[in-house]
Amino acid sequence: MASVLKSDEVESFRQVLVDLRARLRGDLDQMTDEALRRDQPDSSGNLSNVPLHMADVGTENYDQEFTLGLIENEQGTLEQVYEALDRINAGTFGRCQECDEPIARPRLQALPYTRHCIQCARELESRG
Ligand SMILES: [Zn+2]
Repeated sequence: MASVLKSDEVESFRQVLVDLRARLRGDLDQMTDEALRRDQPDSSGNLSNVPLHMADVGTENYDQEFTLGLIENEQGTLEQVYEALDRINAGTFGRCQECDEPIARPRLQALPYTRHCIQCARELESRG
């Protein structure tokens, strides 16, 4: 079973998460700009005007749709990064939110913002 993280280990994960947050924010700004620049001459910068379903857009909008899909993914990841940083501040980082057991280090190294240990992640996935 994995052991609880030491404070210097938590610190190094904090650094990884802060870097990841900065990178994701930069990517999102850039992609949002690119997506909105196309076919949105009078956009107010609000994503809610953009059709989000594949059926609503023609193939010429595929690139935009693709970019918006990436934005959604990255936004989801960014939210998880924020939550992980909150958990670091709360002192609960590295523990599974489901079973409260420490998450294995290799999993944290691969996915520092993960909320669940591998067992719970698999179970949640199979449950849908
Ligand atoms: Zn778990």
